[in-house]
Amino acid sequence: MSFDHLGLMPELLRAVADQGYTEPTAVQNEAIPLVLTGRDLLAGAQTGTGKTAAFVLPILQRLHATRPTAARPLVAPGRAAAGRSIRVLVLVPTRELALQVEESVRTYGARRPVRSTPIYGGVGFDPQVRALRAGPAIVVATPGRLLDHAGQGTIDLGGVEVLVLDEADRMLDMGFIRDIRRILALLPARRQNLLFSATFSDEIRRLADGLLDRPAVVQVTPRNTTAELVRQVVHPVDRERKRELLSHLVRSGRIDQALVFTRTKHGANRLAEQLARDGIVAAAIHGNKSQGQRVRALADFKAGRTAILVATEVAARGLDIEALPHVVNYELSMVPEDYVHRIGRTGRAGMDGDAVSLVCVDEAKLLRDIETLLGRRIPVEVVPGFEPDRSIRPEPIRLRTGDGRAIGGGRPGARPGGRAGAGRPSAGRSAPVHGGFVPARRPGIGNPRPASARPGIGNPRPAAPGQLTPVRPPLPRLGDRGQAPAVLPGERLARRADR
Ligand code: AMP
Repeated sequence: MSFDHLGLMPELLRAVADQGYTEPTAVQNEAIPLVLTGRDLLAGAQTGTGKTAAFVLPILQRLHATRPTAARPLVAPGRAAAGRSIRVLVLVPTRELALQVEESVRTYGARRPVRSTPIYGGVGFDPQVRALRAGPAIVVATPGRLLDHAGQGTIDLGGVEVLVLDEADRMLDMGFIRDIRRILALLPARRQNLLFSATFSDEIRRLADGLLDRPAVVQVTPRNTTAELVRQVVHPVDRERKRELLSHLVRSGRIDQALVFTRTKHGANRLAEQLARDGIVAAAIHGNKSQGQRVRALADFKAGRTAILVATEVAARGLDIEALPHVVNYELSMVPEDYVHRIGRTGRAGMDGDAVSLVCVDEAKLLRDIETLLGRRIPVEVVPGFEPDRSIRPEPIRLRTGDGRAIGGGRPGARPGGRAGAGRPSAGRSAPVHGGFVPARRPGIGNPRPASARPGIGNPRPAAPGQLTPVRPPLPRLGDRGQAPAVLPGERLARRADR
């Protein structure tokens, strides 16, 4: 099936052909005709499915086919855009995604350009004010900085005809819900709304219920479902030997270039430094890096000048890196769904990919949760010389802030870093997480500390030390997955960096 039947204008079809796309992806096939009709849309699609083109292409067409609905005078004429209205607002969780989506607008609009600009935090305000004054029809923005512009009167959202929430689940995870609601209040009531989300939590459904008017629903699986194109393997390893093992995999040629995931910014920095000391060209990319540093790191990686790009979940989300041969989970994510997102970074465009997870004894429960989600076991391969020491007991996973303060793993019930997690149903993820080798909680007692941390008080010992070998306990039932998704500390910081 080609793009021709979707109802797109010749300039857009040519731009798509320029990119070498021959067939629409599933989400493009379904969403483009629906968006062209002006209907609201709820789309379940994650990065890698071609979702960006699925909304950018029909939006560009609608901009050309219709005249602006807002012939209203603009507020604060001295400061806000003089004369032309913003017609399309795309909200995204991260600056990287803002840049990439806006680049897609330029790419797909190359044959018939539309003015657009990205708006995101962490960079100067004035250049954005100038870009807004130039009168973009499309603004791709992170919520915090957008609200700053709204507060300063440097943006007028009164003429928005189409609103897109891209990666809405991630925006909610990052705590943007209040900002989103404030932005919604600034938009005209009559508009088309498109909501894209990889997952559908209750919170997303509530947002969708309030936002969308009788939406069409499109649900697609990623182009490369994990089972298809991505070879997955778990290398069991001691917690203190992960870096050594990663260096070994690179130096032995097993891994040539890889995107490596850590849980925290601090961990990303430290790993990149340690790899550099091992003689491996590595860089870290995360929310505390300046925009310039991130762009440079990504460019070096894409050009093959950097072997290892260490990234946090948030920073890596939406990064458009083609033909990535390897993804390494240096640390498993606290949220099983993130595993699927991470490994979706490889195996794209029909190419083989390789997802390697370095798993220590503390992460056994996280691994089981991932396998439950996948519905299958991931093959385990012990790397000779890195056999796990079975006498090592699991410890709670500590999440650290950028300055290295531990914010998890403290006394039971302690709030991470003294910050109240209250008010957010998901705050529990910051609490210590037990490796899951033993029944960590005695039912009814609610003790979140691992048995191993409480010697001598009658807790059971780990049933079988070193269970990361192929002999595994049975998969937990789906309902056993425990922790509700929450905000990782890195995400909280990234959210602030949005301003
Ligand atoms: P996205 O899901 O929007 O992040 O897109 C993932 C990648 O798929 C991007 O690198 C796009 O350039 C690419 N892509 C989008 N649509 C197509 C298509 N129809 N055929 C081939 N590649 C595509």
